[in-house]
Amino acid sequence: MAQDYYATLGVDRDATAEQLKKAYRKLARQYHPDVNDAPDASEKFKEVTLAYEVLSDPQKRAVFDRGGDPMSSGGGGFGGGQGFNFDDIMDAFFGQNAQRGPRPRQQRGQDALLRLNVDLAEAAFGVTHEIKVDTAVTCTTCEGSGAANGSQPETCRTCHGHGDVQHVQRSLLGDIRTSRPCPTCHGFGTVIPDPCPECNGEGRVRSRRSISVTIPAGVDQGTRIQLSGEGEVGPGGGPAGDLYLEINVARHPMFQRKGDQLFCQVTLPMTAAALGTQIDLPTLEADVPDSDEDTRTVRLEVAPGTQSGDTLTIKGQGVPRLRGAGRGDLKVQVVVETPTRIDDQQRALLEELAQLRDEERPETLMATNHKGVFGKIKDAFK
Ligand SMILES: [Zn+2]
Ligand SMILES: [Zn+2]
Repeated sequence: MAQDYYATLGVDRDATAEQLKKAYRKLARQYHPDVNDAPDASEKFKEVTLAYEVLSDPQKRAVFDRGGDPMSSGGGGFGGGQGFNFDDIMDAFFGQNAQRGPRPRQQRGQDALLRLNVDLAEAAFGVTHEIKVDTAVTCTTCEGSGAANGSQPETCRTCHGHGDVQHVQRSLLGDIRTSRPCPTCHGFGTVIPDPCPECNGEGRVRSRRSISVTIPAGVDQGTRIQLSGEGEVGPGGGPAGDLYLEINVARHPMFQRKGDQLFCQVTLPMTAAALGTQIDLPTLEADVPDSDEDTRTVRLEVAPGTQSGDTLTIKGQGVPRLRGAGRGDLKVQVVVETPTRIDDQQRALLEELAQLRDEERPETLMATNHKGVFGKIKDAFK
């Protein structure tokens, strides 16, 4: 009975080709005699390589799954296996993506990333921006082919169109045949004898263009917006990658944002905090040029006896939720101001008040866990 190839590679019986390859690479790196001095490393290396040889071949794998031994029927033993891809061994060590045949000139372009600065109101309510994008675009002179007017790419004479050149390397496992991209044609299998002068044969040129993007309401710092096909056009006029816009929200002089909530601070005179009052606060809508007049302020009710550090909530005046209904709240932190300059009359009134309240020599209590206004403000933002 043959060894259990699945166990040798440490994979499940339903492992995919990708999982097999990964497991094999890992073990091959671990046991290769050139890197592992252990006396049984060479034997182990042969075992895992044999296991991979069987399981990576659908026919041999099927034989093994049916309980047979695919290596005993003259199907080629280790090292002599025809059709076994030794590139995978080289792959395991050099990470090269061994390719067969010429690679296409036309390839998908890369994604591009652009930072977009918006202010807080734009992030909250959405905005349409004209942005300048600097990416590769298809060369219009050669329409992406890279060849000058009417000329054609020719078969490469070095690799005869294969795109790669063979190398034979001696090793303790026998001759190892590897291939690498042809240095003449860079693996394309063809050369362009008469490159397009506009793009130097690249099939693409850099260009600066304007596009209009709509930023949805509710985006936040770091939100990425994907614009399909607006990235770099690929070599040879290949399809463009995507463009990502990363939102950077500028600081606001009054509001701080956390998720869908807005925070701000108001300073109140001592008397107003004691007696209660109403204040009209500017809203974030006040930053929007064509917003309705009556949305630009909101009334804050300050109850009598409001303390410094109290947080008052105004429902629905925060940030609209991205792709969702509703809005967060506005949290207003109150800071009560003690008068610092008072005239004689005010002093007399305050003294009278102190007398009435029996506070001329107030009993003070040392507060436990007293954080003060700024501690509380910090808490509010946590
Ligand atoms: Zn061109
Ligand atoms: Zn070539």
